[in-house]
Order: sequence, then structure tokens, then C-alpha cells
Amino acid sequence: MRFNLQAIIHVPGATLPFDFTMDLSEVEFFGEHPVKKPLSVSGVVSNQAGVLTLEGEATAELELTCDRCMKPFRREKTVPLHFLLAQELEDEEEGDIVLLDGDELDIGELAFSAYVLDLDTKNLCSEDCRGLCAGCGVNLNEEVCRCKPEVDPRWAALSQLLDKTE
Ligand SMILES: [Zn+2]
Ligand SMILES: [Zn+2]
Repeated sequence: MRFNLQAIIHVPGATLPFDFTMDLSEVEFFGEHPVKKPLSVSGVVSNQAGVLTLEGEATAELELTCDRCMKPFRREKTVPLHFLLAQELEDEEEGDIVLLDGDELDIGELAFSAYVLDLDTKNLCSEDCRGLCAGCGVNLNEEVCRCKPEVDPRWAALSQLLDKTE
């Protein structure tokens, strides 16, 4: 999504709001297509005393698979967008400045790369997901594992006692 910033580049105090969606459903990430619904991108480019800044956010609902229990789950993820923009670099030392393409800026590309870079490589349905039992494979969030019967504490005490008398 390209925007022409001509109207604000040389006008201190001028702003250009933006609000659009991007279809990322075909974008593969770690073997999945997590961004099923469109990414919504919104914010504003402003000329603050001659300095161009972009402030906004990109947000989408992700469809992920839990790495521990293998269940699919959904999570909304929002990534803030903060960029300094310039038509040309005046000082080599100034990093993190996004160069305009003439008067134009591809805000879609900026938002897309910021969003994808911020995606997690590990996904858990919840921080305390108990995962699958290594023995029987049940989802321990939903079921009680039956492959390893609990030893009755009274029997445990008795067998300790027997060990000592032998
Ligand atoms: Zn899980
Ligand atoms: Zn089990």
C-alpha cells in the first residue's frame, strides 16, 4: 500500500492518517499460514517541525498451533509501528530511518515486515499449558493421564516399612 506524502513533506504540522487492511493469508511462517484474517494497519504520518514520523499499529488475529499440546488456538497480535522517515540520509550515523521513494512510502511493506519480524517462533496456547503425556499422548489440559497409576500414599508408606524390616 503506497502513499504519496507530497502534501506533508514540506509542511510542518501537517499530518496524513492511514487506515487499510492487507491480506496475508498466503504468507507462510514456520510451515503455517497464521494470518488468516486481514492485517489491519492504521496510524498517522506527521511532519513535526520538519521531521517526518510514522506512528501506528498493525493488528491481526492469528491462528496458531500450540507447540506443547498441538491444539490450534487463536490470538490477537498487535505490533506498534514507530518510524522516522526521510527523503535522503543526511548523516550516515542516523540509523533506523526509512527512506522515502521520492515522495512515496510503501506503508504496507513497512507494516508487513514489522509484523512478520515480531511473530513468535514458539507458540503456547497458555503459559501454563501442560502439554501431552509422553506415555499415552493425552492432552493433559483436558484429561487425566491413566498410563501411570498413582501409588496410594498408604501403600507407599507400607512398602517403606517392609523394606526396613527385611
Ligand atoms: Zn497448549
Ligand atoms: Zn499418560
